[in-house]
Amino acid sequence: LNEKFQNIFSQLKRKGKLNEKDIQEVSREIKLALLEADVNFKVVKQFTKNISERAVGQEVLNSLTPGQQFIKIVKDEMTTLLGGEIERMDFVDGRRNVFMLVGLQGAGKTTTAGKLANLLRKEKKFKPLLVACDVYRPAAIKQLEILGEELNIDVYSEHDVKDPVGIAKRGLQKAVAGQYDLVIMDTAGRLQIDETLMAELVNIKEAIEPTEILLTVDGMTGQESVNVANEFNRLLNISGVILTKLDGDTRGGAALSITYTIGKAIKYIGTGEKLTDIELFYPDRMASRILGMGDVLSFIDKAQNMMDEEKAKKLEEKLKNNIDFDLNDFLDQIKQIEDMGSISSLLEMMPGANKKALKNVDLSGADTKRTEAIILSMTNEERSKPGIINAGRRKRIALGSGTKVADVNRLLKGFEQSKKMMKQMTNSNISKKGRMKLP
Ligand code: GDP
Ligand code: MG
Repeated sequence: LNEKFQNIFSQLKRKGKLNEKDIQEVSREIKLALLEADVNFKVVKQFTKNISERAVGQEVLNSLTPGQQFIKIVKDEMTTLLGGEIERMDFVDGRRNVFMLVGLQGAGKTTTAGKLANLLRKEKKFKPLLVACDVYRPAAIKQLEILGEELNIDVYSEHDVKDPVGIAKRGLQKAVAGQYDLVIMDTAGRLQIDETLMAELVNIKEAIEPTEILLTVDGMTGQESVNVANEFNRLLNISGVILTKLDGDTRGGAALSITYTIGKAIKYIGTGEKLTDIELFYPDRMASRILGMGDVLSFIDKAQNMMDEEKAKKLEEKLKNNIDFDLNDFLDQIKQIEDMGSISSLLEMMPGANKKALKNVDLSGADTKRTEAIILSMTNEERSKPGIINAGRRKRIALGSGTKVADVNRLLKGFEQSKKMMKQMTNSNISKKGRMKLP
């Protein structure tokens, strides 16, 4: 999925202006990619509808960098789809937190119970108790006990008693007596949802009145996880989702479908087999991960925040009216870029950037200061008409800025190249309201 999006996005970046047809085409490709990744079709439909509606509006078409704007919309919409803001657990102060972990067999409930107890003991200073309500397989109780031993967390279990509701109740009593402030009930799963299991879970819920019912879902599963989630939610009114096995292969199909379909937030993700492999869920990070382009997107955000709108507009006017882009403008740009960190690291973030042409525009790190010094050593005339800077002037500028003639030469060469690029870009991209694209 990741790769598919990368392809779609690099195509987009290569385009100058986008028209409605382009957007439809790209939306269609995105749709296919998501469907192929086993994302629920209703979700896909709504998602692509949202992005094309936004894209066809002013936002993208009137922008100088329509491809990037569009990509940003895709990311924004995906973040929204994944729940928007992060939603943490409701920890009730002064009250015992009782969590019930539910889900299919193999989803990762038992492992997650341990991970979560361990994490919250560390973060919230809770005193956790694990309760083994999965009574059908002896191995299941043993598994939780071993986990508890490993983590040095107490486990309440009863062997030879096949009464999960009773165990849950007595586990809770132990928690009260022992002043445990976090109780995590590990419940039984099935390979499929069945009525007996569901009835049992409903009974446990009624008996212990948990503060959170967390549905544990195997993140490797696609659409079928939606049906499962729906059913658990219908019967138990879950409070949130924990998506496990999001390590290795990056698949987000389940995440996308679940949040949209059942409207419950994903709260944590499991990212590996180790007991510390659990993280809070961040919708925007997940979106970046699905789209495989976190860096590029943060670059766009950064660039948009840092670019001085006024200056960008002036420069744009200049370019549009074919007034020459001169060394003063170049200096302005360098200063803005400097604010954003080294240009080379930014360039690495941009798969679509013309790296070859930019090789000579070496503005990275310490070079920026030198470039600035050189330009500041030029007269105003030289800055606006770089053509007049002959050998004699170069020597003077080098002396004045404490650099070598070779540095001055390199800068002028870089400037010419960047000017050429700006011309190319504006010929294809210029518009009234857009923003300046970075060199
Ligand atoms: P349960 O049947 O729902 O209790 O599932 P378990 O907790 O027994 O987990 C089933 C398998 O999934 C075990 O082999 C776990 O090690 C594995 N597992 C659980 N969470 C993760 C995870 O986040 N990443 C990976 N790679 N494996 C996990
Ligand atoms: Mg289990």
